[in-house]
Amino acid sequence: MRVSYHREMIRAGIIFSLVLVQAMLLISILTPKNFAIAFLDVGQGDAIYIQAPNGNDMLIDGGSGESVLRALAGVMDISDREINVVVATHPDKDHIGGLIPVLDRYSVTHFLDPGVVNNTLVYKELSKRVVEQTQYTVARKGMRIHLGPDTVADVLFPNRDIEGDINNASVILRVSYKKSSILLTGDAGKGVERIILDEDIESDILKAGHHGSKTSSDIVFLRKVSPEHVILSVGAQNRYGHPHVNVLSALASIGTNILSTAEEGTIVFISDGESLVRK
Ligand SMILES: [Zn+2]
Repeated sequence: MRVSYHREMIRAGIIFSLVLVQAMLLISILTPKNFAIAFLDVGQGDAIYIQAPNGNDMLIDGGSGESVLRALAGVMDISDREINVVVATHPDKDHIGGLIPVLDRYSVTHFLDPGVVNNTLVYKELSKRVVEQTQYTVARKGMRIHLGPDTVADVLFPNRDIEGDINNASVILRVSYKKSSILLTGDAGKGVERIILDEDIESDILKAGHHGSKTSSDIVFLRKVSPEHVILSVGAQNRYGHPHVNVLSALASIGTNILSTAEEGTIVFISDGESLVRK
């Protein structure tokens, strides 16, 4: 009797598990995924994670250290060990430092950067991994990254090899999903913002250039982008004094909603293709 009781229990347990698995499959099939963008809280630095509705994903920059791993774990599926595309906007530590642990932890298929060499240990460590583990491409204006049927990232800059200030070599991406769009300018300065002024830059969300430093966010540029939301990717009480008061008043003058990772932590927006809404 005792044995059959256990058998019944086991059988019931198996049936229950199967029903649960079927229910979970049904839920995942019935719930179409939205487009999602997360401005990750990595302290002073940039890291932006994007997921297309088909599950393909992209990471733009990784902050300076390992904090990106915890931030990614907070927004990625626990079973997802792969990132389809990683873009390093430019080889400063607050953008590429965290990409080393990312490449150690995740399988990354494509890697893009502006093709600028930086004579630092962090750059050399990253480059070694990029060459060994990924398909590498130098990002240039006119390239389009197809993340999904309606999800693309257009490279607006650089249009050539850049020398001098590496901030101004930053890869500029305009990401769009149907009617929703986001402009990501890395640490590009006002001079670059003026160069891309004639491109299709009007966007729902703008990540303010160079963490809200006064070297970026030209007023003519801000008016043209005309963003509903502006993201400041900054560390709390950072030693650079970012964001600059002039940038904050320029943003206030265009009447946009200002959000900072220092105050909000990771900032997530989702889109059904019509509009981006805060999650
Ligand atoms: Zn930076």
